[in-house]
Order: sequence, then structure tokens, then C-alpha cells
Amino acid sequence: MKISQLKLEELRDMFIYVSKKMIESKSLLTQADKAVGDGDHGVNMARGFETVRQKLEGHSFTTIKELVNTIGTTLMVSVGGASGAIFGTFFTGAAKDLKEEQHNFNMNMFSQMLFNGLKAVKQRGKANPGDKTMVDALEPAALKAKEIISFPLSKALIDVTEEARKGVEKTKNMIAKVGKAKSLGKRTIGYPDPGAISTHLILKYMMEFITRKIPN
Ligand SMILES: [Mg+2]
Repeated sequence: MKISQLKLEELRDMFIYVSKKMIESKSLLTQADKAVGDGDHGVNMARGFETVRQKLEGHSFTTIKELVNTIGTTLMVSVGGASGAIFGTFFTGAAKDLKEEQHNFNMNMFSQMLFNGLKAVKQRGKANPGDKTMVDALEPAALKAKEIISFPLSKALIDVTEEARKGVEKTKNMIAKVGKAKSLGKRTIGYPDPGAISTHLILKYMMEFITRKIPN
């Protein structure tokens, strides 16, 4: 069994699931941020995704563009700090080129969203690959999605998530060059970037949602 697309309501349910799992990841993200920063990333992300969950549950959207934009603007106003702006920017960037008439989430749309989100994040955060940021998880994920654009969504998400995970691992050897962690310089070596971890987790929870829909 494979899943090649999700309808608007299924995509909303996917992001409700992702929100719940990101809230559950609070202490993991707190620990990760304490190692390289002020430790607020877990609390910030949990607060943001709690607000997203509330906005999505019991609400029906007219278009995927509206749904994804809502996630972005909600994160922007509720997360606080640099990560709110960056993760909010990812989703609003991802929504930017979506057409009102696109009602199914498939690999073409997913790949386009990852690239547009990545572009927006790079512009906003002035971060490049190797700077020890979420870009180091997001860019390899976006490149993988483009490479396997012909795969069914359910299969592709497994491979895209794995690329993001490898990207997180690579951030351990990087020295932070942007954001608050920059002041810690070489002391950040050995620890992964919390934003990269969150990026991997969002993709991982999307993958979990879709693979659990598949009957064995
Ligand atoms: Mg922090």
C-alpha cells in the first residue's frame, strides 16, 4: 500500500498530529537548546504548536494555501524569539506559490513547498548551509524531495526525513555562525542545532502520520 496524496482535511489532520508531537517534544528541545543556547527553544516551539493545534482543530479550511499560511502566521505570532520568525517564515514561504485551486497535497506540491520555504528562511535568517541552523536539515531534505519527486508521498517522506536526520547529525561538527549560539562559537561543537532538530522532527511526525494511515 502506498499513499500518493492527501486531501485538504487529511493534511489538516496531519498538522494537528505534528503539533501534538511537537508539544510532546518540549523537553527534548529544551535540553538541546540548553547545550548551545538559552534553553527556550522547547518552550517556544511547544507554545507555538499548541496555538497551531487550537487553530486547526475543528476548523475547516477552504484551500491548502489558507491552511499552510495559517500555520505560518500562527507560529510567527505565538512562538516568540528568533525561532518563531524562522519557522513561521518557513510555512508562509511554503504557501506563497500555492494556487487556490490546488486541493491535494502530493509530491510535486511538497517539493515546491520545501524549496520555497527554504528560500524564505535563507533570506530571512541570512543563513547558509554550514552555519549550524535549521537550513542544514531543511536543504538536504528539499534536495532529496526533488530527486525522488516521482515516488509516492508515503515512501518519499521516509527518505526525506532520513536526509533531515543526517543533516542534524552534521550540525554537531559545525560552529554556529548566526543567531544567539554564535557568541558561543567553538563551544557549540559536539552539539546539534536545536532548529535543525525541530525541522527533522516536523518531517518525522509528518512521515509517522502518513505511514500509520497505511494498512499493513
Ligand atoms: Mg534559545
